Amino acid sequence: MKTIALIAHDNKKKEMIEWAERNKAVLSKYELCGTGTTAKLVAESTGLEVRRYLSGPLGGDQQIGAKIAEGKIDVVVFFWDPLQAQPHDPDVKALLRIAVVYDIPIATNKATADYVITSPLLSESE
Ligand code: PGA
Repeated sequence: MKTIALIAHDNKKKEMIEWAERNKAVLSKYELCGTGTTAKLVAESTGLEVRRYLSGPLGGDQQIGAKIAEGKIDVVVFFWDPLQAQPHDPDVKALLRIAVVYDIPIATNKATADYVITSPLLSESE
């Protein structure tokens, strides 16, 4: 089963919750994980099980990056905030980088996330 990682910066969490609720039926077919606060909020709002890593600024982005390197994450939805500086900016960049290194689809805004979640490729086995 494919694993989808969910991450949203603070100003994007509302958008992530709305997106996850809207796509709950599809998300329920996959393993879900995310950075601490995002995972908690999505789990509470959708009732889906979401594996929680550490909060992003405390190393959660790095944990998800490591899972990508291990081949354990298939898709990332990462609503990062382009309008606010993040204390863990190097981790954010590292996550974006490692997703490209391993050719993992990484949706960084809602429009792209909608394309990815509705793609027939998502349900194809590797
Ligand atoms: P959070 O981390 O889900 O724990 O807030 C997200 C981030 O800021 O990278």
